[in-house]
Parts: sequence; structure tokens; C-alpha cells
Amino acid sequence: QDGSTFPFEAQGRAIQLGGRPLRVTAMRDITARKQAEAQLAGAYQQAERARGETRAILDAANDAMLLVAPDGRVATINRRFCAMFGVEPHDIVGHALDELGAFTERIFDDMERVAAQIFEPLSDLDGQFTDILVQQWPQPRQLELFSTPAAGAGGERLGRLYVFRDVTREREVDRMKTEFVALVSHELRTPLTSIKGYVDLILEGEVGDINAQQERFLTIVSNNATRLVSLINDLLDISRIESGKVGLTRERLDLAALMQGVASSLAPQIEARGQTLTLDVPAWLPAIWGDADRVTQILTNLLSNAYKYTPNGGMLRIAASAPPPAGQVRVEITDSGVGMTPDELEKLFTKFYRARNRDTQDVGGTGLGLTITRSLVEMHGGDVSVTSVPGVGSTFAFTLPVLAGTGALTRVVAPLARGGRILVVEDESDIAGLLRRYLERAGYQTSVAHTAADALRIARAEQPDLITLDVMLPDGDGFGVLEALRADPVTRELLVMMLSVMPDEGQGKLLGAVDYLNKPVSERLLLERVGRLLSDEQSSLVLVADDDKDVRELIADHLRRAGHRVMEAANGAEALRLATSSLPNLVLLDVKMPVMDGVSALRALRDAPATRALPIMMMTASPGVLDDCRSAIEQLGATLLIQKPFTAAELVAAIGRELSPRTPAGVGA
Ligand code: ADP
Repeated sequence: QDGSTFPFEAQGRAIQLGGRPLRVTAMRDITARKQAEAQLAGAYQQAERARGETRAILDAANDAMLLVAPDGRVATINRRFCAMFGVEPHDIVGHALDELGAFTERIFDDMERVAAQIFEPLSDLDGQFTDILVQQWPQPRQLELFSTPAAGAGGERLGRLYVFRDVTREREVDRMKTEFVALVSHELRTPLTSIKGYVDLILEGEVGDINAQQERFLTIVSNNATRLVSLINDLLDISRIESGKVGLTRERLDLAALMQGVASSLAPQIEARGQTLTLDVPAWLPAIWGDADRVTQILTNLLSNAYKYTPNGGMLRIAASAPPPAGQVRVEITDSGVGMTPDELEKLFTKFYRARNRDTQDVGGTGLGLTITRSLVEMHGGDVSVTSVPGVGSTFAFTLPVLAGTGALTRVVAPLARGGRILVVEDESDIAGLLRRYLERAGYQTSVAHTAADALRIARAEQPDLITLDVMLPDGDGFGVLEALRADPVTRELLVMMLSVMPDEGQGKLLGAVDYLNKPVSERLLLERVGRLLSDEQSSLVLVADDDKDVRELIADHLRRAGHRVMEAANGAEALRLATSSLPNLVLLDVKMPVMDGVSALRALRDAPATRALPIMMMTASPGVLDDCRSAIEQLGATLLIQKPFTAAELVAAIGRELSPRTPAGVGA
């Protein structure tokens, strides 16, 4: 018409006009429609391309993905899903999830878990979660499942997305790491036991006099061995906590008693620095629900830090309270020490972190203590907080859950010490305090009398298992007390050990004292002698089985010094043979030994009528071993487990307890 072109649509029709057939054609301009169609096609292509891209991305992902629509039908899966679970898209896509039972049953090991983690969350519109699933077919795998609701760009619900990641290798490596650390630390502890044990023996003058320089050097060796032991313990703890291997053995706990115990075991170090420690516990504190060893570890870590990072002469305070909300107890450990800057506070709970400054550079440590502490508190369901001002001091606080169902505040009776009751008769209160500490540390209960009159009164009233008797008393002498004790039928049989600065001239023995020690008395000597006196069978036969010759000889040496006869075995089979032929009073078995391990030997001893009732103690250098066989050991009636490295005093005291008929093991005095 006007020279322009445009698309048109023509419609023709035949008509009759005046008897003549004609053809009429109508033409319509359809430019607008064609444009709209082209636009639509473009958009379609674009959408197809985007879909292809999304698909390609989904298919390239290394995690398997499953999108389930709100109606419960599988909307889409990616290629990795097909490969991981050995299915084809047409098997799955478009089917309702609950029609796919046969597939899921073949693939997964634990259908209940699958039901809980895949089927049930379908109706949950906004929950996100992660879990571990075990796949059994077509290949065993450990899968980490992440699930989240999926929504479109406009917020419309697309359903629920499940992402499965293969973590088999990660978990395997993690397990290997934990095993490796456990193995290495076991292998390190065994030689350390020998190093520390023998050095301490030399230091205590057991093999002759040493000069001042030798003493200084050996003390350095001993201190470093101790440091190494604590580093190994920390590493092992961390690796076990991280791999979830640390379980809590919870019981009703008297927190006040635990705090007291930790305070008195750290007292020597605190006193050596001229620091003052205040213990502040309300008389009525609710019992808590926790693991005694772990709570002790938490308290020890925090109190050790407090004295370590506080200059000489500083103030320390450990306090407990039961603030609202009900159901928790709060413990605060405060020091007047170097404190920390906000920067340092932030990194405090990072593994191996140690603040570096002039005040703390000489303090030994690993930077692991607080990480362990926080994990242990959190495992109990509590939390740790800290406030600190540089140059002024720090307060570390943690909470622990109160024992549920105890209602009002109740006080738990502290468990009785195992080793028996000892009356310390001593006029000088400093020395009395020292003796007391030695004895209580070894598990004995003590009372103190400062005068002869008190000594007689308390001896009558308490009937202690042993009396340590000083010769010089303000109102008479020890020999007079001894005579009076022997004259009274109520106290006649009591065991008395004389303690004196003067050598024995025979008088004590004549009056029936069973032992005589010269002051100053070392902790080791005191405990050895006390342990020996309190075990009725003074010359017991002990069988020691350990494959490490040095450790075995060290233990044997300690036991011989404490008055026992000793037989040695290098493995479980030898131990079995010796135990059967000579029926010792006690068998000490290392858990890990070649040929026949300790637990098998224990089982064999329990199976044979002749050895069925023998007291048996197990020992081990790695707590990991204990986790695996603790219950077996308990069921087989081995009465005690002692963990290497132990000190001579610990070992001798433990054996003394085991051999003593007064204190049946596990029952308490
Ligand atoms: P360690 O004491 O073995 O170094 P921790 O994990 O127990 O390891 O402590 C980490 C760091 O936190 C310490 O090195 C120290 O710098 C700092 N710290 C911990 N407790 C205190 C405290 N009471 N006062 C000042 N600094 C502390």
C-alpha cells in the first residue's frame, strides 16, 4: 500500500454475487501478535538455558541432592544422587517419597533413623538440621545429611531439600588420629614412668647421698618429666573429647568437698608462692549431678591457672553459690594476678593459645587447659565465663547443674576415705598439718591431738586404726601416753607408731609401739610405713605382671621397700602360671601385654577355682584402654584400676588398701 511490509493474516471466502462466483480475501495486520510470540520464545529459550545451567551445577556437585515437593513427591535429584544410591532418575522423580520404601530399605542400614531424618521432617516448614546416616548399599558409607526447607525467589514453598555428603574418609582419618594419639601417648607414658620414678628415688636419697648440684639437676629432670606427663594428658584429653570418646560417669556430688580436695592438693604450690587462698562455700549448697573426676579436673585447671598467673604474695579465692535461676551452682575462681587484655580474652579458649607477655613468659603450660575445661563444663550442661582486668586480676566462673529431684537444698555427706582412720598426736600445729596432709592425700582420715590428755581422750572415743605419736608433748611425753594406752582395755590393742626427732633407744618398742620414725619424715617414708602397718599381712606376696621390664622392676622395688615380697611376670600367660602355683596375696596386672593381655589373664584367673577369689588390681598407661574394657574388668571383680604413671606413695597406698582386711575394697572404711 505505502511500500512498507508487515506480516498479515489472510482469510478468503467464496461468495456468489449476481450469480457469479467471487472470492473475497480479508487481510489483517498481525505485527503485534508476531512480536509477542517472538518475545515469548526468547523468554522460553532463556528459561531453558537457565534451567540447563542450574542442572549442570547441580549435577557437578559432589554432594547428592534430593528436593521433595510440598505434596511429598520427589521434584528433582542430581546426578551424584543417582551415583551414590545406584538409582535412575525415572525410578524416583515424580514418585511420592513413601512409595520408595524398597529403595530406602536397600540403601540404608537403620530405617528408623531414615524415617526420623527424611520422612518426618517433610511436614516441618522451617526446621534445618544435620545428622549422620549409615549407608549400606551399593557401598558402605558414612553420610552427613543436611536438610533445609527450600523456597522460590518469590518466597513460595518449593519443598524440602536434602543434601547427602560422603564423610567416610573424614571420619576414618579422625578415628586414626585419635587412635594414633592414644597409642603415642601410651608409648610415651611408659618410659616416662621409669624416668620419673627412678629420678625421684635418687632424689629421695634412696640410693645414697647426692650433692647439691646433682639434686638441682635431677630436680630439673623430674620437673620436666612431670610437665611432659601433663602435656601428654592434655593432648590425650583433647583428642578424646574431640572424638566424642569422653563419657561422663555422673553421680551425686558434694561440690564443697571437691573444692576442698582440690584446694588442699594445690596448697603446697600456692604456699610456696606466698599466696593466700580463701575458700568460700555456703554451708548449704545443693548437691550437683556430675562426674567427680572431671569436676575435679575443671577445678584443678582453673585454680592452677589462678596461682600460675598471679605474682608471689597474691590473693586467690574460690567460691561457690547457688544463684538464680534455680537448678545450677556457680563456682568462681578469682585471682589478683596479671589479668588479660580484651584482645587476649577473645582468644583465650583457642587450642594452644597462650598470652605472650613479660609477666607470663616463664610460666609453664600448654595452652590446652582452658579448651579442655570449657568442653568438660559444657558436657555437664554448664558454661564458662571470664572477666579480667590487666594488672588487676581475673575471675573465671562456671556453672554446673544441680542434682534433679533433690528439692530443697541438701548437703551430701562426703564419702569416707578408704584407708582407715589415723590419730596424729603432735604438739606443733605446723607439723601436725603437714602429717595430716600427707595422710589425707593418700586416702586416710585423720584427727589431731595436741596434748597427751587429748590424745588419750580421742583414742578412746574414736578407736583409730593407727596413732602417730610425738615424743614431746606439752603435758607429758609420748612414752607416758603409750603406757596409758596400754593400761586401758579399750585402747590396749591400738597400733602406735612413734615419731620423734631423737633416735629410738628401744623404749618405744618395749612399750609396744609397732614402729619408730625419725623426724623430719618424708611423705614417702611415712606412707610406706603406715601402709605396711595398716595391711594386716605385713609380708604379703604380690605378683607384678608388666611387659615393660623397667616399669616392672620399679614397681617391684617400691613394693619390696614397703615390705612386700614380689614375684614378676612379663606377660599374662606367665602371670597365670605363677599365680596358680604360688597363690599370691595380690596380683597386679598391666592391661596391655603381649602373649596374653591383662584382661584375658584376669578372666582365666577368675575361671579357675584356685585363683577365683584372689584380689586383682589392673593398671594401665592409657585411659582409652579403660573405656574399652572397664566394664569387663569390673564384672570380673578386679577391684582397682591404677593409672600409670603413678608415684610410689600412690602405688603403695593403693596396694595397702587392697590388702587390708579392715577396708574391703569399694566399700570404704
Ligand atoms: P596454659 O595455662 O597451659 O598456658 P590454658 O589454656 O589454661 O593454658 O590458658 C591459656 C592462656 O590463658 C594462658 O597461657 C594465659 O596466658 C591465660 N590465662 C589463663 N588463666 C589465666 C589467669 N587466671 N590469669 C591470667 N591469664 C590467664
